[in-house]
Amino acid sequence: MRAALLRWYRRGMRDLPWRRQVSPYRTWVSEIMLQQTTVAAVVPKYEAFLRRFPDVATLAATTEEDVLAAWAGLGYYSRARNLRRAAGEIMTRHDGRFPTDYESVLALPGIGRYTAGAILSIAYGKPYPVVDGNVIRVFSRLFGLRGRPKDPAFTARIWRKAAALVPKKYPGDWNQALMELGATVCTPESPSCGACPVSKDCVAFKKKLQDKLPLPEKRRPSEDVRWSCLWIERNGQVLLWKRSARERLLKNLWGLPEVGRVTATAGRLLARASHTITHHALDVELHAGALASDALLPPEADWTPRSRLKERLVSSLWLKLLRARVFERAPSAKIAS
Ligand code: SF4
Repeated sequence: MRAALLRWYRRGMRDLPWRRQVSPYRTWVSEIMLQQTTVAAVVPKYEAFLRRFPDVATLAATTEEDVLAAWAGLGYYSRARNLRRAAGEIMTRHDGRFPTDYESVLALPGIGRYTAGAILSIAYGKPYPVVDGNVIRVFSRLFGLRGRPKDPAFTARIWRKAAALVPKKYPGDWNQALMELGATVCTPESPSCGACPVSKDCVAFKKKLQDKLPLPEKRRPSEDVRWSCLWIERNGQVLLWKRSARERLLKNLWGLPEVGRVTATAGRLLARASHTITHHALDVELHAGALASDALLPPEADWTPRSRLKERLVSSLWLKLLRARVFERAPSAKIAS
């Protein structure tokens, strides 16, 4: 079964930029980007990121704002902050070389068991397993294991299975082959069992359980969130607000100030956008705002030139409004949502 899967992978693996040239740094960046983001969305961002930060030293020497700007649109911005922090640790604690032992890799900010296993197996050829959503689905079906992907006991069982199966020879190809099979053939809906290289060993295929395994996740109900934000502009500069670490959403990121955060009046509606973050459904209104003449600005507020807005407003929520040309027009202009 392992040989059949490896053969299939080597014959037809997708041509992805992080596979063309392998290094711990390149594998690391790609794996962090691929967490919670699709391959199609990652490819252009990955190539641009590598052009801007070609190695650990460049990444460690940059500012957090620059890394967040390069990450714009990918979401889950703590990933970008951790990449930069980890690059700093690699420079100071490991002489600028990516560590090669599991414990040191795992100790870097933002690197968990999955990413450590991916880097060590793909870039260093060490036999560490990886388990992501694709591997959970493939193993659940292949071995007929019943469980929900987010159930910790079930996930622990899959990790044990993955650790037992990872080969000493070509562990990186094996791990990637499993994930590739899950991403392209053993898909969540309607898996292509007819094209599957391991169908003759697959319990779910034999018992016609492909649509039943793994068990469906219990759905978390969606939460509606409404924000009213202000567009306050003065001499070509726009007032932005640095959200704190205590915020429920978009922590530690720049945004437009919500009504009530600065002493200002909210005028007419300029734009509206819908956006989803995890299970939160946001409905955001943007109003023309006027600062009170005696308003004292708190330290979280900062005037930002229009030309720098895209560097600071990195969340797709604000980018949606940027694309609607909200910020390119005078506030008095008619603005489409
Ligand atoms: S035979 Fe079907 S269900 Fe089984 S591993 Fe292959 S694609 Fe998945």
